[in-house]
Amino acid sequence: MKFAEPSSRLLVLTGPSGVGKGTVLRALLARYPQVWLSVSATTRAPRPGERHGENYFFLDRQAFMDQVAGGAFLEWAEFAGHAYGTPAGPIQSRLRAGQAVVMEIEVEGARQVRRRLPNAVQVFLRPPSLATLEERIRARGSDSEDSIARRIARAREELARAKEFDHVILNGDLNQAISEVEAVLQPMLKTASS
Ligand code: 5GP
Repeated sequence: MKFAEPSSRLLVLTGPSGVGKGTVLRALLARYPQVWLSVSATTRAPRPGERHGENYFFLDRQAFMDQVAGGAFLEWAEFAGHAYGTPAGPIQSRLRAGQAVVMEIEVEGARQVRRRLPNAVQVFLRPPSLATLEERIRARGSDSEDSIARRIARAREELARAKEFDHVILNGDLNQAISEVEAVLQPMLKTASS
């Protein structure tokens, strides 16, 4: 899909699983309800409380791969044994309407977005350490041992790539991290016509 919309209003928040991307975004979306959070597709099973169309579009692998073949995704990647992808259409229409859009994705997908949309703003959220990250994933209580091990192994690779990103923000103190991401987001809203 050709992507001609002004992508300077697109914020890509990336960083390892468990670093707190979702928590930071929930706080910012409560402050800035005019910002639209992209809903991804995934082949992983819903966690308790997750809803189709709200947290993710939960697809089986065949349906996911059909979407890939049809060029429906802005980016997609394999992560911890499952596929995740961002539907391009809804983002395109929001950007076209002048709205600011946020995507919360892992690092390989963020890299694909950087290649396709160099004007999108990329933020990498990093944990104080791998040990803290593992504690946070365990505290979430939603992953099997196998999934935790895969996520930590992937986090090592992702942290090594942090320097590729426009902004690297430490999530040690949550409020501090929220303010720093907010400082990146605010100028993007000023130029928005929404
Ligand atoms: P989880 O299974 O914990 O919901 O997500 C695992 C990882 O996949 C997280 O780092 C999350 O940010 C990332 N992710 C979620 N949606 C997408 C997507 O559409 N594309 C990519 N590349 N990663 C995603």
